[in-house]
Amino acid sequence: MQILKDIYLVSGLPYGFHPNAYAVKGRNAVVLIDCGLDERDLAAIDTNLQYWGLADLPISHLLITHAHFDHTGNAFTLRKRGLLTVAGPGDAEGIARGDDRTIRYAYGQSFPACDIDITVQDGDVLNAAGLAFDVIHVPGHSSGCVLYRLVLDKRVILFTGDVVHVGEKSDMARLGWNGAVDYDRAAYLCSLQRMAQLHADVILAGHYQPCLQDGYKVLQNAYMRGLMELR
Ligand SMILES: [Zn+2]
Repeated sequence: MQILKDIYLVSGLPYGFHPNAYAVKGRNAVVLIDCGLDERDLAAIDTNLQYWGLADLPISHLLITHAHFDHTGNAFTLRKRGLLTVAGPGDAEGIARGDDRTIRYAYGQSFPACDIDITVQDGDVLNAAGLAFDVIHVPGHSSGCVLYRLVLDKRVILFTGDVVHVGEKSDMARLGWNGAVDYDRAAYLCSLQRMAQLHADVILAGHYQPCLQDGYKVLQNAYMRGLMELR
């Protein structure tokens, strides 16, 4: 499903899957953001890349928002195709080891561990397929959660993973799951406070629907929710 010019939802809610995965068309290559849980999500990703005419381009990078299984389960398989994997501090190590930071215990199966080619830090700019993704480290939901910020056609697009989801109304937020081994309530609230200061037009989260306008309102509402729920 095309969301914006050059941005596609390739797996997720409209296809009957819980975790979202996005594709961004860059210069002569595609960048994926998260990659779903299992082979069914991967089949949806491949089908949609084909449908939207992106399958002829190489996938240059897989940008991982955080280590959780439902966002990273296909990283190992995709990396074998030749792309570079990218993840935040701590979570990169969890994915490479396949340890409990992937929340494998929530799925009752072993995680397909995947080497991470590029570990990004707060403030990094990741250049992929001719696109510049700003990296913002927002620990809490996991220790190495990162946001990827991209400016396309003068719109600020924020890939928020599970740190902030869009609520039932497009200016409302939902917060992420609190069952991870490295979940940190205080850090999460600090991250939400920081995010409430960010400008964003578009919020593309790890679950649920997108917000395509005034995305900063979702971030502000997320901090309000955090103040009520996380203290
Ligand atoms: Zn998560």
